[in-house]
Amino acid sequence: MNEYGTRVAANLADVRRRIDDACRAAGRDPAEVRLLPVSKTFGADAVRAAHAAGVRVVAENKVQELQAKAAELADELPDLGWAAIGHLQTNKAKVVAQLATEFHALDNRRVAAELDKRLATAGRELDVFVQVNSSGEESKFGLEPDAVAAFADELAAFGRLRVRGLMTLAANTADTARVAGCFDTMAGLRDRLRAGGAPGSWDELSMGMSGDFELAIAHGSTCVRVGTAIFGVRPAPGGAGAR
Ligand SMILES: *Cc1c(COP(=O)(O)O)cnc(C)c1O
Repeated sequence: MNEYGTRVAANLADVRRRIDDACRAAGRDPAEVRLLPVSKTFGADAVRAAHAAGVRVVAENKVQELQAKAAELADELPDLGWAAIGHLQTNKAKVVAQLATEFHALDNRRVAAELDKRLATAGRELDVFVQVNSSGEESKFGLEPDAVAAFADELAAFGRLRVRGLMTLAANTADTARVAGCFDTMAGLRDRLRAGGAPGSWDELSMGMSGDFELAIAHGSTCVRVGTAIFGVRPAPGGAGAR
């Protein structure tokens, strides 16, 4: 294994240990929390390294990047799944329907309808997470928390979508109480959806990234999406490459 591969393996082990520690501190079973490595901006070598260290699903936030890496690695790593975790435009739904094993950023009916149609054509189903704007930040995608219950009812019309739960990006701030507030909003919303019998399993909370995954686990996360802590610092857009 090359030097970068060794580093990715060590970082993965470190993140897994931190997840286990956070679970224990919260009185939770580590088996309840899945680590979803985010390989965006890194090349196929990074994905190969993660796969060699036991990873079987990696996440991308841009459809074109997912498509390119999936094509490059399809023959070599046939057991690798791809999670699409970024905002999706209707015209890219076809690619997600064909290639992704899960989609974490569902926040409008048009994309749901297009995915459902394309999945039917492909003879596939897809695990989906409804993205919620838990921080109130205008720059963030996702439904307002109050709009999720009605959206959940609408999703019942789309038989190819397996509704698994909710996803969010918490406020991007060093104010831990505010970040925790975002996660609590999500856990409360999940509980209400379950209690209200919304169609779907609603057993998943996709929340927590490199900077806040331990806090997310303390507040009920079942899936942490971690990039930087595994693959390294991403190159600044247009800047010199660094990892
Ligand atoms: C990039 C990204 C992550 C991972 O972010 P890190 O801070 O690098 O761990 C998680 N979720 C989404 C939606 C992302 O785009």
